[in-house]
Amino acid sequence: MESLVKLKCPTCSSRLDIFDTPSGGRIVSVSLLGDSVEQNAAALELFQPPDAGPKITCPACGRSFDPSEPHRSIPMFNRPRAS
Ligand SMILES: [Zn+2]
Repeated sequence: MESLVKLKCPTCSSRLDIFDTPSGGRIVSVSLLGDSVEQNAAALELFQPPDAGPKITCPACGRSFDPSEPHRSIPMFNRPRAS
């Protein structure tokens, strides 16, 4: 299974990987916990059914957010510098 999108939760700053499932749902998986939830994350992975809508629910803090809003993602900044 391939990670489709990498996002950062605007609430707790955890890094999230979003995977599509064959059933049309998606799995939100925490790849790195934010500082505020490091000790008390609710979960590290969450399944969202196909009818859950466009919002992503952060497994760690349980807040949902719209991934198309500007405070989006970590684009490609964390790739090592090629030189
Ligand atoms: Zn969060």
